[in-house]
Amino acid sequence: MGGPSELHSKVLSSGLCTGCGACTSICPYLNAVEGRAVILEFCGKEEGRCYTFCPRTEVDLQYLRERIFETGEGDPSLGFYSSVLKARAGREGIRKRAQYGGTVSSLLLYALKKGKVDSIILTGSPDGIYPEPRIAKTEEEVLSCTGSRYLLSPSVGEVVRLLRKGEGGRIAFVGTPCQVLALRKLQVYEREWEVSRIKLVIGLFCTWALSHKAGEFLMAKLRGRKVRKFDIPPPPANLFVAETENGRIEFPLEEIRSFIPPSCRICFDMTAELADLSVGMVEGEEGWNTVILRSAGGIEFFEEARREGEVETAPLEGERLEHLKEASLTKRKRSAEEREKLGASYLRGG
Ligand SMILES: Cc1cc2nc3c(=O)[nH]c(=O)nc-3n(C[C@H](O)[C@H](O)[C@H](O)COP(=O)(O)OP(=O)(O)OC[C@H]3O[C@@H](n4cnc5c(N)ncnc54)[C@H](O)[C@@H]3O)c2cc1C
Ligand code: SF4
Ligand code: SF4
Repeated sequence: MGGPSELHSKVLSSGLCTGCGACTSICPYLNAVEGRAVILEFCGKEEGRCYTFCPRTEVDLQYLRERIFETGEGDPSLGFYSSVLKARAGREGIRKRAQYGGTVSSLLLYALKKGKVDSIILTGSPDGIYPEPRIAKTEEEVLSCTGSRYLLSPSVGEVVRLLRKGEGGRIAFVGTPCQVLALRKLQVYEREWEVSRIKLVIGLFCTWALSHKAGEFLMAKLRGRKVRKFDIPPPPANLFVAETENGRIEFPLEEIRSFIPPSCRICFDMTAELADLSVGMVEGEEGWNTVILRSAGGIEFFEEARREGEVETAPLEGERLEHLKEASLTKRKRSAEEREKLGASYLRGG
């Protein structure tokens, strides 16, 4: 374990902060600047939650799996899981607003409707570009956050705030693999806050995200046009696409790659291995999601939503599953190489 000095030397000074918002929402000596944590002043403590919860300090993946899934075992590419399938929202209206199949938003709406959770921590955006963590309690609030924002979002900070204040009731969370990792570290290592209020964690697949510096670049590309949706179509397209109110803008991915932060380059997790269930695209099939069912609670919840018609499902083809595993393993290998170069040896059991 460590404190702010170690957080600074092992994470912040090497640019490995993922901007999850965990530490900056805990401590007045830390602040978020352009989407990254900075230490304003050293508080002098040798140990702190800032270090413990950070997804880029020591991670004992096997221990976290044991605590969350009651087994340390996991597939080498996808982590611990029970099944992988295709899914989409039962309601066409949700599918139309969502990033891909609307599975995430449908599941959240079902959780609210059935009174399983009271607050959902999501990522919206006032301008479609810069992410804004939000607490959703109604259908409209959930639907106002559909779609993917590709800049790092400090949404774990919102969970921390609710837990510290004793507010929000039962909580659901949606986030990228690094955010899910921070949240699970918090859930497993925190001793005072009522972490049992975190009831549902939905992870998003993620290959990389963009630092906040990409915001200005995207603004310039949009030239005042209001964005409806960003997308990164699967290879070999090699494009970044913005659907706007005045048509589609696309440009080569190479133009934006320089905004991928070091924290994403060393990231090992493509499918949010510690989530209750994880959701991504189905490559080459529009309007559907790939879903990985993991925890017992996640499986039960998903099956209930399926029985009630909130989500529709179909089997995932064998070659698609193999491709997903391959992509996930590739990210793991690349992460190991990058960590070796940086001398960052924070991951155990990965
Ligand atoms: C940065 C990023 C990178 C991704 N990379 C991949 C990838 O490589 N491969 C792949 O298959 N899928 C990727 N995804 C996931 C994909 O874009 C969809 O979010 C996912 O398939 C769910 O689709 P849906 O139609 O169910 O989503 P919707 O029902 O539209 O819901 C989308 C949800 O995403 C949340 N969200 C949006 N932006 C962020 C953000 N910055 N941080 C945290 N949560 C956010 C919203 O709160 C919303 O609840 C990525 C997502 C993000 C945010
Ligand atoms: S990744 Fe999260 S916890 Fe770690 S330094 Fe950045 S904001 Fe803080
Ligand atoms: S690649 Fe990893 S570090 Fe980067 S946003 Fe995705 S999950 Fe987080």
